[in-house]
Amino acid sequence: MNKYDYLIVGAGLFGSVFAHEAAIRGKHVKVIEKRNHLAGNIYTKEVDGIQVHQYGAHIFHTSDKDIWDYVNQFAEFNRYTNSPVANYKGHMYNLPFNMNTFSELWGVRTPSEARAKIQEQKEAAQINGQPKNLEEQAISLIGTDIYNKLIKGYTEKQWGQKATDLPSFIIRRLPVRYTYDNNYFNDTYQGIPIGGYTQIVEKMLDHPGIDVETGVDFFAEKERYLKEFPKIIFTGMIDEYFDYQLGELEYRSLRFETEKLNVDNYQGNAVINYTDADTPFTRIIEHKHFEFGKGDKEKTVITREYPANWKRGDEPYYPVNNNRNNTLYKKYAELAKKEGNVIFGGRLGQYRYYDMHQVIHAALVCVNAEF
Ligand code: FAD
Ligand code: UDP
Repeated sequence: MNKYDYLIVGAGLFGSVFAHEAAIRGKHVKVIEKRNHLAGNIYTKEVDGIQVHQYGAHIFHTSDKDIWDYVNQFAEFNRYTNSPVANYKGHMYNLPFNMNTFSELWGVRTPSEARAKIQEQKEAAQINGQPKNLEEQAISLIGTDIYNKLIKGYTEKQWGQKATDLPSFIIRRLPVRYTYDNNYFNDTYQGIPIGGYTQIVEKMLDHPGIDVETGVDFFAEKERYLKEFPKIIFTGMIDEYFDYQLGELEYRSLRFETEKLNVDNYQGNAVINYTDADTPFTRIIEHKHFEFGKGDKEKTVITREYPANWKRGDEPYYPVNNNRNNTLYKKYAELAKKEGNVIFGGRLGQYRYYDMHQVIHAALVCVNAEF
């Protein structure tokens, strides 16, 4: 045994919230992180005065005032509202699906005209009853035109699977609105931390009782850690923890291609989605627009996001929560229950398509159960 009460594997949001809360309660915590930086996928880094989101666009949003107050302890947030625009073969459409999209697409002006158009397309596609997959869910929500132009191509390249093989909940992440409102989220609170996300994790971990080491992989010395630490919070992949003994869970990976350009304003918006099937990337982020054009006037930084198959050793950015994987995850969760002194948390440990506010919530639930 050693002086620590907990070993936390992973300095992402889940591990860092837990570490912070444990330290506040007088516990001694060791955090190990295999990457060479803190903050997991919310890591941001300053380049030419612009906060660059290293692992894809991150917009904080929640309707839970407690979670909003919680995260505001660690950073001040700006008033950024996410309003991505879709580029389908050179035509631009507002997202999420709202009166601006419907009007641009069909020339309709009123909500009732838009509803009639969608109903007509839904009937023609003969979608009745409970949608069985993402395609049926999408058509039943917004009709075939939007499905074909703004959803099918994007979804199939993002997930590397046919929309008919994907679960319908993925598309229900996006609002459908019969108002001229381009806000991508319905939540009460939304914004980007001024100065980036990394500071949030740095502040959480900057507390007496917390020691952090980066560049350390748990699996290099798993047995020793299990022997030496009374309790472990594990936020890596649950199937990897169990050496894939029941088979591999599926993940989706990404490749980020970041470029500095000598222009003031490349695309006029923080996020542009490329929704056709042929463009190999799903979206381009222009980071300065998260901060209302901050940074050098002559420079900008953009990132193209290319979806990629996952294989062992790649970054597992997304769990693929279809029936096969959820069933397998449940079996791993059963094994996890028997692993007395290890708690599995976060997007990878709980194999859930969590957003940041949900990760904070899950970590606080875990804290409350523990103390
Ligand atoms: P992670 O951030 O993955 O942290 C886990 C950490 O554990 C990682 O740092 C990893 O390196 C480390 N680790 C894993 N295995 C080991 C090991 N064996 N040894 C040591 N360390 C290990 N959420 C939003 O709310 N809004 C958004 O706009 C948004 N956009 C997103 C865009 C993209 C492209 C992606 C991929 C995610 C997005 N998210 C967004 C989700 C958000 O990133 C996650 O909810 C959050 O970062 C998950 O935190 P976590 O701690 O569970 O996982
Ligand atoms: N989606 C789409 N077209 C878009 C944006 C999103 O079809 O222009 C679908 C796609 O299936 C995606 C899902 O909606 O995986 C959820 O989108 P979100 O923006 O929440 O994805 P994330 O930011 O988590 O990658």
